[in-house]
Amino acid sequence: SIPLGFFGGIGAASRNGILVKGSNYLEALNDVKIVVFDKTGTLTKGQFKVTGIFPAEGIAESGLLRLAAYAESHSPHPIAESIRSAYGADIPGEAIADYNEISGHGIAVTVEGRAVLAGNARLMEREGISSGTPEVSGTIVHIAVDKQYAGYLVISDEVKDDSLQAIRKLKALGIRKTVMLTGDASSVAEAVGRQLGIDEIHAELLPQHKVEAVERLEKEKSQREKIIFVGDGINDTPVLARADVGIAMGGLGSDAAIEAADIVIMTDEPSKIAEAIGIAKRTRSIVW
Ligand code: ADP
Ligand code: MG
Repeated sequence: SIPLGFFGGIGAASRNGILVKGSNYLEALNDVKIVVFDKTGTLTKGQFKVTGIFPAEGIAESGLLRLAAYAESHSPHPIAESIRSAYGADIPGEAIADYNEISGHGIAVTVEGRAVLAGNARLMEREGISSGTPEVSGTIVHIAVDKQYAGYLVISDEVKDDSLQAIRKLKALGIRKTVMLTGDASSVAEAVGRQLGIDEIHAELLPQHKVEAVERLEKEKSQREKIIFVGDGINDTPVLARADVGIAMGGLGSDAAIEAADIVIMTDEPSKIAEAIGIAKRTRSIVW
């Protein structure tokens, strides 16, 4: 016989802005013991702001910002959006060539005939450029032009108001462990994790490392217990597909993420995950 309660549960979830792609996923939510979050855009607003411009000697602040904005002109990453918005002016398409976005690193691109790099310390290291490690709180975007270090921008994001509630509610529902995975710097990750009371933090990860982290967590639990991964979609498709239950947040996430996810949360509130688990528990008690 068909467990009608499941359809009722899916309906209840959808009325709350939670799209569940099958009754099996709703059922799996009952057995979730570990919830793994992406940081940027999931626990934080993903609305970065440029909070500092630090050019190398002989370069003007305005010149560094302009270069960074040109380099980031094609990137959908929230870091790129913040740099373009700090710059403000239009960027002529013909100034940009050989655009190359390197996942978990940044951008390599030709701007007005010059080879420009914009990204993290790992990108600079990979390209043999010494960048130093400034003592600041925030995400650092280093810029290099024709293999010469040109300076850095400091970019800051904020924790979502809803994130603290989300973690508390999950704990109250008996979730054993919360985990945050991020490609961002350890200093930024630790600050966010501490603020929210996240149990385990893994930073400076490439997208494939996020998959490996979920695979390691798989080994810490019994067969019956389930792992959720929650992400906003940017670079998260492989790990969304790998987790027992992949949840994409923000109805405006990438099509690929919505496709790869088992559950889509239409708002940007991580506390909807606890709500979904609550609906799953109520649904099970109707079915059995
Ligand atoms: P997260 O795991 O926080 O979602 P990503 O995997 O998207 O982060 O990116 C990891 C890191 O790679 C960023 O923190 C940043 O340092 C760097 N990065 C990625 N894309 C860009 C970009 N377009 N411009 C500059 N840096 C970038
Ligand atoms: Mg991301």
